[in-house]
Amino acid sequence: MTAVPPPRTPARLVRLLLVEDEPKVAAFIRKGLETQSYKVEVAADGREGKLLAAAQKYDLIILDVNLPHVSGIDLCRFIRTRHAKVPILMLTAMGTTGDKLTGFEAGADDYLVKPFEFLELLARVQALLRRSAPPEEAEPSLQIADLELDLREKVARRAGKTIELTAREFSLLEYLMRNAGRVVSRNDIAEQVWEVNFDPGTNIIEVYVNYLRKKVDKDASVKLIHTVIGMGYVLKEK
Ligand code: CA
Repeated sequence: MTAVPPPRTPARLVRLLLVEDEPKVAAFIRKGLETQSYKVEVAADGREGKLLAAAQKYDLIILDVNLPHVSGIDLCRFIRTRHAKVPILMLTAMGTTGDKLTGFEAGADDYLVKPFEFLELLARVQALLRRSAPPEEAEPSLQIADLELDLREKVARRAGKTIELTAREFSLLEYLMRNAGRVVSRNDIAEQVWEVNFDPGTNIIEVYVNYLRKKVDKDASVKLIHTVIGMGYVLKEK
């Protein structure tokens, strides 16, 4: 017998929906998952499952295939039309290839054939949740020539020397760096950096670009912020 792993300590509450009409199976799955600190809601038939899936947001849905009123396959299709990404694990007593294919065609992510051991279910649930978890922050910094923007520390450096920036200057520089080599218009900047607080009657963008120039380019031999007359600005090396 394999030992049940110690309960995980969740960073946040993970909500699961279990749609299963056999009370014993539902209780067994629910109890096991709850000892792992998952929050589990159970629907006893396809219709109830459909109502819950439509009304709530879940991190993962476990669906029995053979259900009263609405089948697990139809419910899976229904969920896919509403929440494109929620991971769906299908459970069935019939393990034929045809059923698996139907489940996958309906949008299921994985498949488990009854009877199964709880640990196998737990492993599938954990794998699906890992796959759907948002990726770790992928880009800690942006770099053009010797200019570096550290997105974690919210600090800019030119040739290793820290540049003090206000929050708005930082946003403007980030936008220019993300679009390095591409001319961005004042309208683009207004929309992306100023959002709703922008008054188009002012020359505030020119003013801020000049602030940035003084901080980023003034003491450097290579200028990075360029004006493209009549079009906007571009951040580039040459
Ligand atoms: Ca069933």
